[in-house]
Amino acid sequence: MAIALDGGLPEPGSDGLAGHPALSRLDSTAARHSAASSVKSRYGGINGRPNDSEFPVQIARAESSGGGDPETDSRLPAHEFDLGLVKESFAYLMAASPDSMDYFYERVFATSPDTRTLFPMSMSTQRERMLAAMTQVIWSLDSEAACTELLERLGRDHRKFGVTERHYGAFFDALRDTVRYFIGPDWRAEVAAAWQGALEYVSAVMRAAAAADAAKSPPWWIAEIVTHELRSPGVAVLTLAPSQPLPYQSGQYVPVQVTRWPRVWRPFSVANTPRPSGLVTLHVKAVPGGLVSNSLVHHSVVGDTVLLGAAAGEVSLADTGRDLLCVAGGTGLAPIKAIIEQAIAAAPSGRRRKITLFVGARQHFDLYDLEDLQLLESAYPLLRVIPVLSDAPGYSGLTGMLPDVVHAHGGSMFSGAEAYVCGPPQMVTRATALLSASIPLAQIHYDPQP
Ligand SMILES: Cc1cc2nc3c(=O)[nH]c(=O)nc-3n(C[C@H](O)[C@H](O)[C@H](O)COP(=O)(O)OP(=O)(O)OC[C@H]3O[C@@H](n4cnc5c(N)ncnc54)[C@H](O)[C@@H]3O)c2cc1C
Repeated sequence: MAIALDGGLPEPGSDGLAGHPALSRLDSTAARHSAASSVKSRYGGINGRPNDSEFPVQIARAESSGGGDPETDSRLPAHEFDLGLVKESFAYLMAASPDSMDYFYERVFATSPDTRTLFPMSMSTQRERMLAAMTQVIWSLDSEAACTELLERLGRDHRKFGVTERHYGAFFDALRDTVRYFIGPDWRAEVAAAWQGALEYVSAVMRAAAAADAAKSPPWWIAEIVTHELRSPGVAVLTLAPSQPLPYQSGQYVPVQVTRWPRVWRPFSVANTPRPSGLVTLHVKAVPGGLVSNSLVHHSVVGDTVLLGAAAGEVSLADTGRDLLCVAGGTGLAPIKAIIEQAIAAAPSGRRRKITLFVGARQHFDLYDLEDLQLLESAYPLLRVIPVLSDAPGYSGLTGMLPDVVHAHGGSMFSGAEAYVCGPPQMVTRATALLSASIPLAQIHYDPQP
Protein backbone atom coordinates (compact mmCIF):
# COMPACT_ATOMS: atom_id res chain seq x y z
CA MET A 1 0.00 0.00 0.00
CA ALA A 2 2.50 2.51 1.11
CA ILE A 3 4.41 2.05 -2.03
CA ALA A 4 2.52 3.68 -4.88
CA LEU A 5 5.84 5.02 -5.94
CA ASP A 6 4.81 7.03 -8.91
CA GLY A 7 1.10 7.36 -9.04
CA GLY A 8 0.61 3.63 -9.15
CA LEU A 9 -3.01 4.36 -8.40
CA PRO A 10 -5.29 6.75 -10.17
CA GLU A 11 -6.11 9.99 -8.43
CA PRO A 12 -9.02 9.46 -6.07
CA GLY A 13 -12.18 10.61 -7.79
CA SER A 14 -15.53 9.27 -6.84
CA ASP A 15 -13.66 6.71 -4.75
CA GLY A 16 -12.19 9.46 -2.63
CA LEU A 17 -13.24 10.43 0.80
CA ALA A 18 -15.97 12.92 0.29
CA GLY A 19 -19.00 11.77 2.19
CA HIS A 20 -17.43 8.48 3.18
CA PRO A 21 -19.57 7.05 5.95
CA ALA A 22 -16.62 5.81 7.95
CA LEU A 23 -15.17 9.28 8.15
CA SER A 24 -18.32 10.67 9.63
CA ARG A 25 -17.62 8.53 12.67
CA LEU A 26 -14.87 10.93 13.51
CA ASP A 27 -15.30 14.53 14.31
CA SER A 28 -13.13 15.24 11.32
CA THR A 29 -12.96 18.98 11.91
CA ALA A 30 -11.77 18.47 15.44
CA ALA A 31 -9.33 15.81 14.32
CA ARG A 32 -8.01 18.08 11.59
CA HIS A 33 -7.54 20.98 13.98
CA SER A 34 -5.97 18.98 16.73
CA ALA A 35 -3.73 17.03 14.41
CA ALA A 36 -2.77 20.05 12.36
CA SER A 37 -2.05 22.22 15.36
CA SER A 38 -0.08 19.53 17.07
CA VAL A 39 1.91 18.74 13.97
CA LYS A 40 4.00 21.87 14.25
CA SER A 41 4.85 21.38 17.88
CA ARG A 42 5.47 17.66 17.68
CA TYR A 43 7.11 17.46 14.31
CA GLY A 44 10.73 17.28 15.22
CA GLY A 45 12.14 14.65 12.98
CA ILE A 46 12.41 10.98 13.68
CA ASN A 47 14.37 11.40 16.89
CA GLY A 48 11.48 13.11 18.52
CA ARG A 49 8.87 10.44 18.01
CA PRO A 50 6.61 9.89 20.98
CA ASN A 51 5.70 6.62 22.63
CA ASP A 52 8.52 4.86 20.87
CA SER A 53 8.80 2.14 23.38
CA GLU A 54 5.10 1.66 23.93
CA PHE A 55 3.32 -1.20 22.22
CA PRO A 56 6.14 -2.00 19.87
CA VAL A 57 4.71 -3.55 16.76
CA GLN A 58 6.96 -5.07 14.20
CA ILE A 59 5.60 -5.90 10.81
CA ALA A 60 6.81 -9.38 10.16
CA ARG A 61 9.38 -9.54 7.42
CA ALA A 62 8.05 -12.92 6.51
CA GLU A 63 9.89 -15.12 4.12
CA SER A 64 8.60 -15.05 0.59
CA SER A 65 5.46 -17.08 0.40
CA GLY A 66 6.76 -18.40 -2.88
CA GLY A 67 3.72 -17.32 -4.83
CA GLY A 68 0.49 -19.22 -5.13
CA ASP A 69 -3.03 -17.96 -4.91
CA PRO A 70 -3.18 -15.52 -2.00
CA GLU A 71 -6.90 -16.12 -1.58
CA THR A 72 -6.40 -19.76 -0.87
CA ASP A 73 -2.93 -19.56 0.58
CA SER A 74 -3.29 -20.67 4.18
CA ARG A 75 -0.02 -18.94 5.06
CA LEU A 76 -1.60 -15.52 4.56
CA PRO A 77 -2.71 -13.79 7.75
CA ALA A 78 -6.45 -13.51 8.26
CA HIS A 79 -8.36 -10.39 7.27
CA GLU A 80 -9.25 -9.92 10.93
CA PHE A 81 -8.47 -6.66 12.66
CA ASP A 82 -10.42 -3.72 14.02
CA LEU A 83 -10.94 -1.79 10.79
CA GLY A 84 -12.72 1.06 12.60
CA LEU A 85 -9.60 1.76 14.67
CA VAL A 86 -7.38 1.60 11.61
CA LYS A 87 -9.56 4.08 9.73
CA GLU A 88 -9.97 6.44 12.64
CA SER A 89 -6.26 6.60 13.32
CA PHE A 90 -5.45 6.89 9.60
CA ALA A 91 -7.68 9.97 9.50
CA TYR A 92 -5.02 11.73 11.64
CA LEU A 93 -2.56 11.27 8.79
CA MET A 94 -5.02 12.68 6.32
CA ALA A 95 -5.71 15.68 8.53
CA ALA A 96 -2.00 16.32 9.00
CA SER A 97 -1.08 16.04 5.33
CA PRO A 98 1.37 17.03 3.85
CA ASP A 99 3.41 16.94 7.10
CA SER A 100 2.42 13.35 7.70
CA MET A 101 3.74 12.31 4.30
CA ASP A 102 6.95 14.27 4.84
CA TYR A 103 7.40 12.44 8.11
CA PHE A 104 6.63 9.10 6.45
CA TYR A 105 9.26 9.60 3.75
CA GLU A 106 11.77 10.90 6.27
CA ARG A 107 11.39 7.69 8.25
CA VAL A 108 11.54 5.41 5.23
CA PHE A 109 14.67 7.05 3.84
CA ALA A 110 16.37 7.38 7.22
CA THR A 111 15.82 3.79 8.24
CA SER A 112 16.39 2.26 4.78
CA PRO A 113 18.45 4.68 2.68
CA ASP A 114 18.47 2.34 -0.31
CA THR A 115 14.71 2.87 -0.74
CA ARG A 116 15.41 6.40 -2.06
CA THR A 117 16.54 4.86 -5.33
CA LEU A 118 13.02 3.53 -5.90
CA PHE A 119 11.59 7.03 -6.26
CA PRO A 120 11.85 9.71 -8.95
CA MET A 121 14.33 12.52 -8.46
CA SER A 122 11.59 15.05 -7.84
CA MET A 123 9.29 14.13 -4.98
CA SER A 124 7.02 17.16 -5.48
CA THR A 125 3.83 15.30 -6.42
CA GLN A 126 4.80 12.17 -4.57
CA ARG A 127 3.27 13.04 -1.20
CA GLU A 128 -0.23 13.52 -2.59
CA ARG A 129 -0.02 10.39 -4.68
CA MET A 130 1.18 8.35 -1.74
CA LEU A 131 -1.58 9.58 0.52
CA ALA A 132 -4.16 8.92 -2.22
CA ALA A 133 -2.85 5.39 -2.65
CA MET A 134 -2.81 4.71 1.08
CA THR A 135 -6.32 6.10 1.42
CA GLN A 136 -7.65 3.90 -1.35
CA VAL A 137 -6.15 0.84 0.29
CA ILE A 138 -7.40 1.65 3.79
CA TRP A 139 -10.92 2.25 2.52
CA SER A 140 -10.87 -0.86 0.37
CA LEU A 141 -10.31 -2.95 3.50
CA ASP A 142 -14.08 -2.94 4.07
CA SER A 143 -14.41 -5.65 1.47
CA GLU A 144 -11.96 -8.52 1.65
CA ALA A 145 -12.52 -9.46 -2.00
CA ALA A 146 -12.10 -5.91 -3.30
CA CYS A 147 -9.05 -5.14 -1.21
CA THR A 148 -7.41 -8.44 -2.08
CA GLU A 149 -7.84 -7.63 -5.76
CA LEU A 150 -6.45 -4.13 -5.25
CA LEU A 151 -3.51 -5.33 -3.16
CA GLU A 152 -2.63 -8.07 -5.62
CA ARG A 153 -2.60 -5.51 -8.41
CA LEU A 154 -0.43 -3.18 -6.34
CA GLY A 155 1.94 -6.03 -5.49
CA ARG A 156 2.36 -6.84 -9.17
CA ASP A 157 2.55 -3.16 -10.24
CA HIS A 158 5.27 -2.31 -7.77
CA ARG A 159 7.66 -4.79 -9.29
CA LYS A 160 8.36 -2.29 -12.06
CA PHE A 161 9.57 0.25 -9.47
CA GLY A 162 12.20 -2.24 -8.31
CA VAL A 163 10.35 -3.06 -5.10
CA THR A 164 11.47 -6.39 -3.74
CA GLU A 165 10.67 -8.48 -0.67
CA ARG A 166 13.14 -6.58 1.50
CA HIS A 167 11.44 -3.21 0.95
CA TYR A 168 8.03 -4.13 2.35
CA GLY A 169 9.14 -4.19 5.99
CA ALA A 170 10.74 -0.74 5.69
CA PHE A 171 7.61 0.81 4.19
CA PHE A 172 5.10 -0.72 6.53
CA ASP A 173 7.22 -0.10 9.62
CA ALA A 174 7.46 3.55 8.56
CA LEU A 175 3.72 3.78 8.01
CA ARG A 176 3.01 2.32 11.44
CA ASP A 177 5.54 4.71 13.02
CA THR A 178 3.96 7.63 11.20
CA VAL A 179 0.50 6.77 12.50
CA ARG A 180 1.91 6.34 16.00
CA TYR A 181 3.63 9.70 15.78
CA PHE A 182 0.61 11.62 14.57
CA ILE A 183 -1.99 10.17 16.89
CA GLY A 184 0.27 10.73 19.88
CA PRO A 185 -1.33 9.70 23.17
CA ASP A 186 -4.21 7.97 21.36
CA TRP A 187 -1.81 5.22 20.28
CA ARG A 188 -3.19 2.51 22.57
CA ALA A 189 -2.65 -1.23 22.68
CA GLU A 190 -5.79 -1.96 20.70
CA VAL A 191 -4.83 0.59 18.02
CA ALA A 192 -1.40 -0.98 17.77
CA ALA A 193 -2.97 -4.44 17.45
CA ALA A 194 -5.36 -3.23 14.74
CA TRP A 195 -2.49 -1.77 12.69
CA GLN A 196 -0.38 -4.86 13.20
CA GLY A 197 -3.18 -7.05 11.85
CA ALA A 198 -3.97 -4.73 8.93
CA LEU A 199 -0.36 -4.20 7.85
CA GLU A 200 0.52 -7.87 8.10
CA TYR A 201 -2.47 -8.66 5.91
CA VAL A 202 -1.74 -5.92 3.36
CA SER A 203 1.95 -6.74 3.20
CA ALA A 204 1.37 -10.49 2.88
CA VAL A 205 -1.18 -10.17 0.05
CA MET A 206 1.04 -7.77 -1.90
CA ARG A 207 4.16 -9.89 -1.44
CA ALA A 208 2.38 -13.10 -2.42
CA ALA A 209 0.99 -11.50 -5.60
CA ALA A 210 4.42 -10.06 -6.48
CA ALA A 211 6.06 -13.44 -5.96
CA ALA A 212 3.45 -15.23 -8.07
CA ASP A 213 3.90 -12.63 -10.82
CA ALA A 214 7.70 -12.90 -10.67
CA ALA A 215 7.40 -16.59 -11.47
CA LYS A 216 5.92 -15.80 -14.87
CA SER A 217 6.79 -12.21 -15.91
CA PRO A 218 9.75 -9.85 -15.82
CA PRO A 219 9.24 -6.68 -13.74
CA TRP A 220 9.55 -4.61 -16.94
CA TRP A 221 10.28 -5.00 -20.63
CA ILE A 222 13.02 -3.18 -22.56
CA ALA A 223 11.70 -1.92 -25.89
CA GLU A 224 13.43 -0.22 -28.81
CA ILE A 225 11.76 2.56 -30.77
CA VAL A 226 11.65 1.25 -34.34
CA THR A 227 9.54 3.99 -35.91
CA HIS A 228 8.85 7.54 -34.76
CA GLU A 229 6.54 9.78 -36.79
CA LEU A 230 5.54 13.29 -35.81
CA ARG A 231 2.05 13.17 -37.30
CA SER A 232 0.69 16.56 -36.24
CA PRO A 233 2.00 19.39 -34.05
CA GLY A 234 2.65 17.68 -30.70
CA VAL A 235 1.43 14.19 -31.57
CA ALA A 236 3.76 11.32 -32.45
CA VAL A 237 3.05 7.73 -33.38
CA LEU A 238 5.78 5.40 -32.15
CA THR A 239 6.29 1.72 -32.82
CA LEU A 240 8.20 -0.20 -30.17
CA ALA A 241 9.87 -3.60 -30.34
CA PRO A 242 9.94 -5.22 -26.88
CA SER A 243 12.98 -7.42 -26.35
CA GLN A 244 10.70 -10.25 -25.18
CA PRO A 245 6.98 -10.89 -25.73
CA LEU A 246 4.77 -8.40 -23.90
CA PRO A 247 1.35 -9.91 -23.18
CA TYR A 248 -1.62 -7.56 -23.51
CA GLN A 249 -5.15 -7.39 -24.87
CA SER A 250 -6.62 -4.86 -27.26
CA GLY A 251 -7.87 -1.87 -25.27
CA GLN A 252 -5.19 -2.10 -22.54
CA TYR A 253 -2.43 0.38 -21.69
CA VAL A 254 1.21 -0.07 -20.73
CA PRO A 255 3.23 2.05 -18.29
CA VAL A 256 6.20 3.68 -20.06
CA GLN A 257 9.46 4.99 -18.59
CA VAL A 258 11.94 7.01 -20.67
CA THR A 259 15.65 7.09 -19.91
CA ARG A 260 15.54 10.87 -19.48
CA TRP A 261 13.22 10.53 -16.46
CA PRO A 262 14.23 7.50 -14.38
CA ARG A 263 11.51 5.98 -12.20
CA VAL A 264 8.78 8.18 -13.71
CA TRP A 265 6.12 5.94 -15.30
CA ARG A 266 3.12 7.06 -17.35
CA PRO A 267 0.42 4.89 -18.92
CA PHE A 268 -0.08 4.91 -22.69
CA SER A 269 -2.71 2.89 -24.54
CA VAL A 270 -1.51 0.37 -27.07
CA ALA A 271 -2.97 1.28 -30.46
CA ASN A 272 -2.86 -2.12 -32.14
CA THR A 273 -4.18 -5.58 -31.54
CA PRO A 274 -1.37 -8.03 -30.59
CA ARG A 275 0.71 -8.88 -33.66
CA PRO A 276 2.87 -11.94 -34.38
CA SER A 277 5.86 -9.54 -34.58
CA GLY A 278 5.22 -8.40 -30.99
CA LEU A 279 5.47 -4.74 -32.09
CA VAL A 280 3.37 -2.23 -30.15
CA THR A 281 2.26 1.17 -31.41
CA LEU A 282 1.61 4.18 -29.17
CA HIS A 283 -0.08 7.49 -29.99
CA VAL A 284 1.48 10.15 -27.79
CA LYS A 285 0.39 13.76 -27.37
CA ALA A 286 2.94 16.12 -25.78
CA VAL A 287 1.26 18.00 -22.92
CA PRO A 288 2.68 21.39 -21.92
CA GLY A 289 5.47 20.82 -19.42
CA GLY A 290 4.87 17.08 -19.43
CA LEU A 291 7.91 14.97 -18.61
CA VAL A 292 7.30 11.68 -20.35
CA SER A 293 5.03 12.81 -23.20
CA ASN A 294 7.46 15.53 -24.35
CA SER A 295 10.36 13.16 -24.08
CA LEU A 296 8.57 10.62 -26.30
CA VAL A 297 7.29 13.16 -28.83
CA HIS A 298 10.16 15.66 -29.08
CA HIS A 299 13.28 14.04 -27.65
CA SER A 300 13.16 10.44 -28.85
CA VAL A 301 14.47 8.92 -32.06
CA VAL A 302 14.53 5.53 -33.70
CA GLY A 303 16.98 3.29 -31.84
CA ASP A 304 16.27 4.76 -28.39
CA THR A 305 15.04 2.39 -25.73
CA VAL A 306 12.24 2.77 -23.22
CA LEU A 307 10.96 0.54 -20.44
CA LEU A 308 7.45 -0.87 -20.48
CA GLY A 309 5.53 -2.19 -17.49
CA ALA A 310 2.92 -4.93 -17.50
CA ALA A 311 -0.25 -4.14 -19.45
CA ALA A 312 -3.36 -3.23 -17.49
CA GLY A 313 -6.86 -1.89 -18.05
CA GLU A 314 -10.34 -3.33 -18.12
CA VAL A 315 -11.63 -2.16 -21.51
CA SER A 316 -11.73 -5.00 -24.03
CA LEU A 317 -13.76 -6.12 -27.04
CA ALA A 318 -17.04 -7.55 -25.78
CA ASP A 319 -17.54 -11.02 -27.15
CA THR A 320 -21.17 -10.38 -28.11
CA GLY A 321 -20.91 -10.10 -31.88
CA ARG A 322 -22.81 -6.80 -31.73
CA ASP A 323 -21.99 -3.95 -34.08
CA LEU A 324 -19.60 -1.32 -32.72
CA LEU A 325 -20.08 2.39 -32.20
CA CYS A 326 -16.71 3.99 -31.41
CA VAL A 327 -16.18 7.56 -30.23
CA ALA A 328 -12.54 8.69 -29.99
CA GLY A 329 -11.23 12.11 -28.99
CA GLY A 330 -7.56 12.97 -29.57
CA THR A 331 -5.16 10.15 -28.66
CA GLY A 332 -8.17 8.37 -27.15
CA LEU A 333 -8.15 6.86 -30.63
CA ALA A 334 -5.30 4.52 -29.61
CA PRO A 335 -7.20 1.87 -27.56
CA ILE A 336 -10.22 2.19 -29.83
CA LYS A 337 -8.12 1.47 -32.90
CA ALA A 338 -6.79 -1.67 -31.19
CA ILE A 339 -10.36 -2.78 -30.42
CA ILE A 340 -11.41 -2.12 -34.04
CA GLU A 341 -8.43 -4.07 -35.36
CA GLN A 342 -9.37 -6.97 -33.13
CA ALA A 343 -12.99 -6.92 -34.29
CA ILE A 344 -11.83 -6.91 -37.90
CA ALA A 345 -9.32 -9.72 -37.28
CA ALA A 346 -12.08 -11.82 -35.69
CA ALA A 347 -14.52 -11.21 -38.57
CA PRO A 348 -13.56 -14.22 -40.74
CA SER A 349 -14.42 -16.67 -37.96
CA GLY A 350 -17.40 -14.86 -36.46
CA ARG A 351 -20.10 -12.36 -37.37
CA ARG A 352 -18.80 -9.52 -39.51
CA ARG A 353 -19.60 -6.52 -37.36
CA LYS A 354 -20.56 -3.14 -38.66
CA ILE A 355 -18.18 -0.59 -37.11
CA THR A 356 -18.82 3.16 -36.98
CA LEU A 357 -15.97 5.33 -35.72
CA PHE A 358 -16.49 9.00 -34.90
CA VAL A 359 -13.03 10.49 -34.49
CA GLY A 360 -12.77 13.98 -33.00
CA ALA A 361 -10.10 16.65 -33.35
CA ARG A 362 -9.92 20.43 -33.29
CA GLN A 363 -8.73 21.02 -36.83
CA HIS A 364 -8.07 18.87 -39.86
CA PHE A 365 -4.32 18.66 -39.25
CA ASP A 366 -5.06 17.23 -35.78
CA LEU A 367 -6.54 14.12 -37.41
CA TYR A 368 -3.12 12.55 -37.04
CA ASP A 369 -4.12 8.98 -38.00
CA LEU A 370 -6.72 9.65 -40.70
CA GLU A 371 -4.65 8.12 -43.50
CA ASP A 372 -4.24 4.84 -41.62
CA LEU A 373 -7.91 4.80 -40.68
CA GLN A 374 -8.91 5.27 -44.30
CA LEU A 375 -6.67 2.35 -45.31
CA LEU A 376 -8.40 0.23 -42.68
CA GLU A 377 -11.76 1.44 -44.01
CA SER A 378 -10.90 0.37 -47.55
CA ALA A 379 -9.75 -3.04 -46.32
CA TYR A 380 -12.91 -3.63 -44.29
CA PRO A 381 -15.97 -2.13 -46.00
CA LEU A 382 -18.14 -2.50 -42.90
CA LEU A 383 -15.97 0.13 -41.17
CA ARG A 384 -17.09 3.74 -41.51
CA VAL A 385 -14.74 6.49 -40.27
CA ILE A 386 -16.39 9.86 -39.60
CA PRO A 387 -14.11 12.78 -38.66
CA VAL A 388 -15.63 15.49 -36.48
CA LEU A 389 -13.85 18.83 -36.09
CA SER A 390 -14.60 21.22 -33.25
CA ASP A 391 -12.73 24.29 -34.46
CA ALA A 392 -12.78 24.35 -38.26
CA PRO A 393 -15.41 26.80 -39.55
CA GLY A 394 -14.88 26.14 -43.28
CA TYR A 395 -14.83 22.33 -42.97
CA SER A 396 -17.32 20.55 -45.22
CA GLY A 397 -17.70 17.54 -42.93
CA LEU A 398 -19.21 17.28 -39.45
CA THR A 399 -18.34 20.05 -37.04
CA GLY A 400 -19.09 20.65 -33.37
CA MET A 401 -18.37 19.01 -30.05
CA LEU A 402 -17.83 15.30 -30.58
CA PRO A 403 -20.44 13.90 -28.13
CA ASP A 404 -23.15 16.24 -29.38
CA VAL A 405 -22.39 15.47 -33.01
CA VAL A 406 -22.54 11.71 -32.35
CA HIS A 407 -25.83 12.21 -30.54
CA ALA A 408 -27.27 14.36 -33.32
CA HIS A 409 -26.12 12.03 -36.09
CA GLY A 410 -27.77 8.87 -35.10
CA GLY A 411 -26.76 8.04 -31.52
CA SER A 412 -30.16 6.42 -31.17
CA MET A 413 -29.60 4.24 -34.25
CA PHE A 414 -26.93 2.37 -32.32
CA SER A 415 -29.10 1.03 -29.50
CA GLY A 416 -28.10 -2.56 -30.33
CA ALA A 417 -24.38 -1.78 -30.54
CA GLU A 418 -21.46 -2.03 -28.14
CA ALA A 419 -20.20 1.54 -27.65
CA TYR A 420 -16.55 2.37 -26.98
CA VAL A 421 -15.66 5.88 -25.85
CA CYS A 422 -12.17 7.16 -25.11
CA GLY A 423 -10.55 10.57 -24.85
CA PRO A 424 -10.39 13.53 -22.48
CA PRO A 425 -12.48 12.96 -19.31
CA GLN A 426 -15.02 15.71 -20.07
CA MET A 427 -15.67 14.34 -23.53
CA VAL A 428 -16.05 10.81 -22.15
CA THR A 429 -18.46 11.94 -19.45
CA ARG A 430 -20.65 13.87 -21.88
CA ALA A 431 -20.60 11.17 -24.56
CA THR A 432 -21.50 8.36 -22.14
CA ALA A 433 -24.30 10.45 -20.66
CA LEU A 434 -25.79 11.10 -24.10
CA LEU A 435 -25.31 7.55 -25.35
CA SER A 436 -26.89 6.07 -22.23
CA ALA A 437 -30.22 7.52 -23.37
CA SER A 438 -30.33 4.94 -26.15
CA ILE A 439 -27.70 2.28 -25.35
CA PRO A 440 -27.86 0.12 -22.20
CA LEU A 441 -25.03 1.03 -19.79
CA ALA A 442 -23.68 -2.52 -19.87
CA GLN A 443 -22.96 -2.00 -23.58
CA ILE A 444 -21.04 1.27 -23.08
CA HIS A 445 -17.32 0.84 -22.48
CA TYR A 446 -15.25 3.89 -21.69
CA ASP A 447 -11.77 4.82 -20.68
CA PRO A 448 -10.90 8.43 -19.84
CA GLN A 449 -7.33 9.49 -20.54
CA PRO A 450 -6.55 12.23 -18.03
C1 LIG B 1 -5.18 4.77 -18.71
C2 LIG B 1 -4.46 5.90 -19.40
C3 LIG B 1 -4.11 5.79 -20.72
C4 LIG B 1 -3.46 6.85 -21.36
N1 LIG B 1 -3.14 6.73 -22.67
C5 LIG B 1 -2.57 7.76 -23.31
C6 LIG B 1 -2.27 7.68 -24.72
O1 LIG B 1 -2.53 6.67 -25.40
N2 LIG B 1 -1.68 8.75 -25.30
C7 LIG B 1 -1.36 9.90 -24.60
O2 LIG B 1 -0.81 10.83 -25.19
N3 LIG B 1 -1.62 9.99 -23.26
C8 LIG B 1 -2.19 8.96 -22.62
N4 LIG B 1 -2.45 9.05 -21.27
C9 LIG B 1 -1.94 10.22 -20.51
C10 LIG B 1 -0.46 9.95 -20.12
O3 LIG B 1 -0.40 8.83 -19.25
C11 LIG B 1 0.20 11.09 -19.36
O4 LIG B 1 -0.59 11.47 -18.26
C12 LIG B 1 0.44 12.31 -20.22
O5 LIG B 1 1.23 11.94 -21.32
C13 LIG B 1 1.20 13.37 -19.41
O6 LIG B 1 2.33 12.80 -18.85
P1 LIG B 1 3.69 13.66 -18.72
O7 LIG B 1 4.67 12.87 -17.93
O8 LIG B 1 4.13 14.14 -20.03
O9 LIG B 1 3.17 14.92 -17.91
P2 LIG B 1 3.38 15.22 -16.37
O10 LIG B 1 4.83 15.49 -16.14
O11 LIG B 1 2.73 14.13 -15.58
O12 LIG B 1 2.52 16.52 -16.19
C14 LIG B 1 3.06 17.80 -16.44
C15 LIG B 1 1.97 18.83 -16.38
O13 LIG B 1 1.03 18.55 -17.43
C16 LIG B 1 -0.28 18.42 -16.87
N5 LIG B 1 -0.96 17.38 -17.65
C17 LIG B 1 -0.87 16.06 -17.47
N6 LIG B 1 -1.63 15.40 -18.39
C18 LIG B 1 -2.19 16.37 -19.14
C19 LIG B 1 -3.08 16.35 -20.26
N7 LIG B 1 -3.53 15.19 -20.78
N8 LIG B 1 -3.44 17.54 -20.81
C20 LIG B 1 -2.99 18.71 -20.31
N9 LIG B 1 -2.15 18.79 -19.25
C21 LIG B 1 -1.76 17.65 -18.68
C22 LIG B 1 -0.08 18.02 -15.45
O14 LIG B 1 -1.17 18.41 -14.65
C23 LIG B 1 1.19 18.78 -15.09
O15 LIG B 1 0.89 20.09 -14.75
C24 LIG B 1 -3.13 8.02 -20.62
C25 LIG B 1 -3.48 8.13 -19.30
C26 LIG B 1 -4.15 7.10 -18.69
C27 LIG B 1 -4.53 7.24 -17.23
